[in-house]
Amino acid sequence: MTSLIFRQLHDLRSSTYTYLLADAASREAVLIDSVFEQSRRDSALIRELGLKLLYTIDTHVHADHVTGAWMLKTLTGSKIALAAISQAEGIDVPLVDGDRLNFGTRHLHARATPGHTDGCMSFVLDDLGMVFTGDALLIRGAGRTDFQQGNAHTLFRSIKEQIFTLPDECLIYPAHDYRGLTCSSVAEEKEFNPRIGAARSERDFVGYMENLGLPHPKQIDVAVPANMRCGHTELADKAREPEWAPLRYTYAGINEVDPDWVADHRQELQIVDVRETSEYTGILGHIPGSNLIPLPQLSAQLQTLDKAAPTVAVCRSGARSAQAVTMLEKAGFEKVANLAGGMINWNNQRLPIGS
Ligand code: FE
Repeated sequence: MTSLIFRQLHDLRSSTYTYLLADAASREAVLIDSVFEQSRRDSALIRELGLKLLYTIDTHVHADHVTGAWMLKTLTGSKIALAAISQAEGIDVPLVDGDRLNFGTRHLHARATPGHTDGCMSFVLDDLGMVFTGDALLIRGAGRTDFQQGNAHTLFRSIKEQIFTLPDECLIYPAHDYRGLTCSSVAEEKEFNPRIGAARSERDFVGYMENLGLPHPKQIDVAVPANMRCGHTELADKAREPEWAPLRYTYAGINEVDPDWVADHRQELQIVDVRETSEYTGILGHIPGSNLIPLPQLSAQLQTLDKAAPTVAVCRSGARSAQAVTMLEKAGFEKVANLAGGMINWNNQRLPIGS
């Protein structure tokens, strides 16, 4: 068994945690509970870490966000894994209790943990060191049982029989936390979970769960129908990659474009070089036809630029121009990209230089 690459990612709007697990040697990866709006972020991280995404796994049909499963499948070629019982459309790997999902030398075991919905599953890592509980067990909480196919009696048994039977030191990673808590353990939840820990009985648990008094989830009417199609929505058709340039979105949150594409299209582009004047005329030279606006002056000189034109920002290495891209996007420029690697990369590729 080779070592594990592990990342816990967060979606601010829905307070969802997405988990990336990969086998360090083979680079094969799985992604648990992805969020539609974060698909470009997640695929950027997967690309930058040199991983091959085999599966997106959803712990259940979510009611509070749209899954990124379909979008990631279109971006990376991954397969969609979800409980068969959910009857969602578009599942590639319909899961049942006891199924095993392999990635490289590592694997996850699916355990049916119904109660929040009847298709809820938890995923246990091969060495029993981690369990991804979805909304079955939360940190000092449990998923609500008052909508979809919720049943507090069923959830009580799932947690007791499928999660609390794992080793005490097994770490618990839930699908959500609304206070920013990131991780717990079986021992901790067995002792301190206010709904089901210590001496609390099934009757105590059901009494608690039936009196939560929570509002109806805001996203449910959008999220559940979309998730019953594994995240393939009209939204997804609109959210395709921008088409004005072959952009590469980075995990740092910037759209980049390669120098050879810029060289081929420079007549149609507004190229903004944000270096100092001495650099513009210095040893690395500059792209013919580019506009020199040093970064400190950019915000004051925005009116000299065409907001509608496809725009590429340039500097020495790509750092200052990344900041320029952020500024231009904030100012309402819609088609902006950073020249990857800046003039250093441009020179390395022996592309044309102006004097
Ligand atoms: Fe849920």
